[in-house]
Amino acid sequence: MSAEAATPVNSEQISAAPAPAGERLRITEIFHSIQGEADAVGWPTVFVRLTGCPLRCTWCDTTYSFHGGQWRDIDAILDEVASHGARHVCVTGGEPLSQKRCLILLRRLCDAGYEVSLETSGALDVAAVDPRVRKVVDLKAPDSGESRRNRWSNLDHLRAHDQVKFVLAGRADYEWARQTVHEHALAARCQVLFSPVHGKVAPRELAEWILQDRLPVRLQMQLHKLLWGEEPGH
Ligand code: SF4
Repeated sequence: MSAEAATPVNSEQISAAPAPAGERLRITEIFHSIQGEADAVGWPTVFVRLTGCPLRCTWCDTTYSFHGGQWRDIDAILDEVASHGARHVCVTGGEPLSQKRCLILLRRLCDAGYEVSLETSGALDVAAVDPRVRKVVDLKAPDSGESRRNRWSNLDHLRAHDQVKFVLAGRADYEWARQTVHEHALAARCQVLFSPVHGKVAPRELAEWILQDRLPVRLQMQLHKLLWGEEPGH
């Protein structure tokens, strides 16, 4: 990541082209924080959390995004994002791709010059996501209760700047993830992230497993939880 990437976006750089009428998304929250995960960890980032998810992972920490939210025009979302003056934007959920117009939002954010990442469950098709977006695609391990939803064809759409993320709740999940990394040669396609479920696997234990097996993966801690715990809005 270049130093230039830290330069805040000037609001004049934001695309002035309005979205056609009716291009709205259901939004749970938009907030400015520090990116706690994945390749952009540590950057000041605006998070756009879309409402809704068709999955129910056992360890989900964003269940409040399943329902509710407010309809927002894409132009209004872009205005609010710009008001925070950050270069990085993370579109997350819920499962953001469960709203088809998420693809428009991602394209508009890229056109406006942001560094854009997308956090997705891995259950929905990522083929139409703008190639400028850095996709963070989950592969659900067995203890999530949702591993049958993994859409394996998504692996064909990974680019070098994308990431595959495994959230692991125990040794069995770890062994499944290790096998999956080998079977699909994931480390040769993009970065692979292993993250412990809080309270289920000690981070140190996961670190030792990775080192013992010499796995070409990155250990991820949730930096925002170290900083702010479970406080909403971070
Ligand atoms: S995919 Fe994400 S938002 Fe949906 S249930 Fe799983 S962890 Fe929660």
